[in-house]
Amino acid sequence: MLVYDYHHHTNNSFDSKAIMKEVCEQAIERGIHEVCFTEHFSVNPKASTYGHMNFERYFSEIAACQKQYGDELSIKKGIELCEPHLLRDQYKKELAGKHFDFILGSVHNIDNYKLREVIKREPETAYSHYFSEVFELVSYADIDVIAHLDLMKRYAHPILGYYRYEDHASIIEKILTKAVERHIGIEINTSGLRGGVGETLPSLDIVRRYRELGGEILTIGSDSHKVQDVGAGFEEAIQIAKDCGFDHITVFSNRVPEWIKID
Ligand SMILES: [Zn+2]
Ligand SMILES: [Zn+2]
Repeated sequence: MLVYDYHHHTNNSFDSKAIMKEVCEQAIERGIHEVCFTEHFSVNPKASTYGHMNFERYFSEIAACQKQYGDELSIKKGIELCEPHLLRDQYKKELAGKHFDFILGSVHNIDNYKLREVIKREPETAYSHYFSEVFELVSYADIDVIAHLDLMKRYAHPILGYYRYEDHASIIEKILTKAVERHIGIEINTSGLRGGVGETLPSLDIVRRYRELGGEILTIGSDSHKVQDVGAGFEEAIQIAKDCGFDHITVFSNRVPEWIKID
């Protein structure tokens, strides 16, 4: 089985120290076919990510890795945008003329509060507020895939417990319907399998419902911030994809999807 891992961070992101060349070498050692780097980027001065990205450096590192490792590893250029449904004009301006293979969109903050702060401020409504914000993301952002669609559970589960799908079914349904309508995909993010969450982000229920509603764009990403996590959880993610009715996963070039059969 060929592994296409579509979510990685290096020291081009504020919260990772990983060195891109080392990530590539680890990927080759593990027999991974393709990686897509998706560094954090925000135009919002209040976001932790703000000001860290140096596009010139990022792009030249990718070009150098493609040159050095291109025979053994396919390397794609992506980005993870922080709340790109907000400040849309600024995003457009900052990203104009820049080329990406793949764009992830994330909700990491709500009203400029980090998700872990939102839980403390409004425990009763934290999950529903989060999903409403994801609906805004999927409605207005120029993205290819929604990152870690139920991310709130990473911070909320030790305090509030896991959300019940049934309690949020109507907003989740709206998110997924809008995603299908706008040709936006979802990812199976395996980072939850490594941390305390104990399951992928999003959970199987959401992946299955997306498929039932006609969703066809599904990437798999380790969300690695460390070299050793490259490709982590991929087999489990493929199994989830199959269990949810997918016979393919999706990869991107120049933001155009292509489907890879899984068996
Ligand atoms: Zn993220
Ligand atoms: Zn990420």
